Amino acid sequence: MNNVYQYSTLSALMQGLCEGGKTASQILSRGDHGLGTVPGMNGEVIIIDGEAYHYSSEKTRKLGDSDLFSFAMSTQFRPAWETFVPTVTFDSLSHRLFDFLPSKQNCFLSIRLDGFFNSITFRLIAAQDKAYETPLELIKRQRLSSYTRVRGTMFGFYSPTFASAFSAAGYHLHFISNDRTLGGHVTEFDASLTTISVSVVNEYNVELPQSAEFNEFPIQPPKEADVATVMTKF
Ligand SMILES: [Zn+2]
Repeated sequence: MNNVYQYSTLSALMQGLCEGGKTASQILSRGDHGLGTVPGMNGEVIIIDGEAYHYSSEKTRKLGDSDLFSFAMSTQFRPAWETFVPTVTFDSLSHRLFDFLPSKQNCFLSIRLDGFFNSITFRLIAAQDKAYETPLELIKRQRLSSYTRVRGTMFGFYSPTFASAFSAAGYHLHFISNDRTLGGHVTEFDASLTTISVSVVNEYNVELPQSAEFNEFPIQPPKEADVATVMTKF
């Protein structure tokens, strides 16, 4: 347990490399919780309780076994720690995780929040219109939505700073409503009566794409400011 499996890298995504990928059944065999995106970077995927849901500006769907992920992080989530808090926001999340941050700041954390969201804002990145279109371009067409009074779950990861060429440093959380109709990449939230569950990850496995696209040119680490813009934070 306490293992994160990742397919592809943030560096590749930031260069717009996101064709093809691994099937949902392959990704789900490596974890029952996680997040990711699809070929063409069309929207956001959350994996929750062994099921993957894809949200894009055109549609919401549960991924089938043969649907592809172009990027994914997944884990068999068995939280070692759980707490119930009256309130939590993105700004206060680190404070709520004081058992782990900073004492585990150089590890990955898997984080799940189940609660009542007084407000939540999440985005759906736009699909590529052409190959190699980068997230910096795609976020100009992203859909940012805010909702109030929604019950749901957020799942994602805290990644350490040194891993920033592979995964966005800090928090990366995706949301899904209890009725599964809403979901996306979280940029802000204010929740009440929330259970926070965490596991510390001490094993991080990365599988690299084998496509011609992936090896076409030397992929550089992304610039911190560009990643912050794409993650729309903070
Ligand atoms: Zn995301």
